[in-house]
Amino acid sequence: VEEEPPKPTIALEKLLEEVRKEMDTQERSEKRSLSLVVIGHVDAGKSTLMGRLLYELGRVEEKKRMANERGSSKIGKSSFSWAWELDGTTEERERGITMDIALQSLSTPHREITILDAPGHKDFIPNMISGASQADSALLVVDSATGEFEAGFERGGQTREHLLLVRSLGVSQVIVAVNKLDQVQWEKSRYEEICSTLKPFLVQSGFQSSKTRFVPIGAMAGVNLSSRDSPESGALKQWYKGPTLVDLLDTLEPPSRDIMAPLRFPISNVFKEQGAGIGVAGRVCGGVVQVGERLRILPGDGTAVVKSISNDDHSLPWAADGSNVILYLTSVDPVHLSIGSVMCRPDNLIPLATAFTARIITFDIDIPVIAGASVELYHHSRDVPASISKLVSTLDRATGAVVKKNPRVLAKTTSAEVQITLRNTSMSGPSAQAPIIPLESFSNNKDMGRILIRRSGETIGAGVVLSLLS
Ligand code: GDP
Repeated sequence: VEEEPPKPTIALEKLLEEVRKEMDTQERSEKRSLSLVVIGHVDAGKSTLMGRLLYELGRVEEKKRMANERGSSKIGKSSFSWAWELDGTTEERERGITMDIALQSLSTPHREITILDAPGHKDFIPNMISGASQADSALLVVDSATGEFEAGFERGGQTREHLLLVRSLGVSQVIVAVNKLDQVQWEKSRYEEICSTLKPFLVQSGFQSSKTRFVPIGAMAGVNLSSRDSPESGALKQWYKGPTLVDLLDTLEPPSRDIMAPLRFPISNVFKEQGAGIGVAGRVCGGVVQVGERLRILPGDGTAVVKSISNDDHSLPWAADGSNVILYLTSVDPVHLSIGSVMCRPDNLIPLATAFTARIITFDIDIPVIAGASVELYHHSRDVPASISKLVSTLDRATGAVVKKNPRVLAKTTSAEVQITLRNTSMSGPSAQAPIIPLESFSNNKDMGRILIRRSGETIGAGVVLSLLS
């Protein structure tokens, strides 16, 4: 017999009042929370950095580190031992790369930061999109070793694509950690060369220079993460007097929160946890959710009751817009829970769409986009087959004014209004499902109204939803 599901403890109005009070206190308090996605080319040192940072900030006990060290030298990859803290599954450990988004948090003097680790491997860009669509800020890790920075930055490297992607998904602040400076004898000129190559690209990609910060580090030895004065910091001490990485993390801007918006909880991961039951991870994109509420799951007619809410290792009575949390569910048929589905309050459902108009910008593409082009549509953690069914107009990038109606093609770095229609790929039979996704216009909900468009494994454009057509 299933246990009686919990009931909401407070009425919505009361809850909102409480949330508002709590957020006012938070705003005035010392600790503000936000989330961070870690991006960069494969092998730049992202996992090493995060493992080391978690350790230095006291979240990894010494015991665990020893166990990780033993485990990783056994399979002959001891340099990866710092990465183990984040790289959870056996498959990831054996391949020595990060595949999934892990939910971890780190605590600096004034910030509580949820970390969304993103993989650098080319095949795993979809995971990185999922992480970035839930983040308030980005930490870009670049490898400063001779030739390595260049390999990551040239076309085909992930440095550029990741930066464009996170900006398109709404992330406006970025910290660039210039890593492995030990490999170039902590040369100031190499650090400056990398900064001056990246700066114009960041501006072109839409980042304000006031919201981009650079910091020289050595992740492996822990140099300039929380302190500059380590024996390993070599020549860095002589020329660098600026902030440490932790100093920069500590000044990141927390997100603004819209608690009056309708509740939207797009699911980025579904899992079963022994003892705790079924959990769904994601970011609250509007409104507030509390323990005991029955929520609808869209698409479909499923519902679930929120048994508990957790953020890393704390249990919470409620979670508000902008929080990355896990909801543990009860009274739910797991068949309704899939990645990309959205949980809502039953009296205010997110619309479902099969076709919509969008304002997009094309990336640095070789082959222009034509009407009818088959693409993959990325929305939050979901990707679905779609087609660019109509090219409505090209637009001036600065003013948004129509430049040309019914253009024949869209070339690279072009701003345009297009119609996008989901494609039905399954032939027929019982598994055939009408393609439909939960979607909202950008003007109604910024988080739910952003899309990315990919073609044959390459991101070709990004944009915002203007209106739903059907
Ligand atoms: P990821 O793919 O970006 O997550 O990169 P990893 O964290 O797995 O690191 C890739 C490789 O770079 C590993 O062999 C690390 O030991 C190495 N590495 C990371 N940070 C440093 C550093 O500060 N100095 C040096 N010399 N090597 C580093």
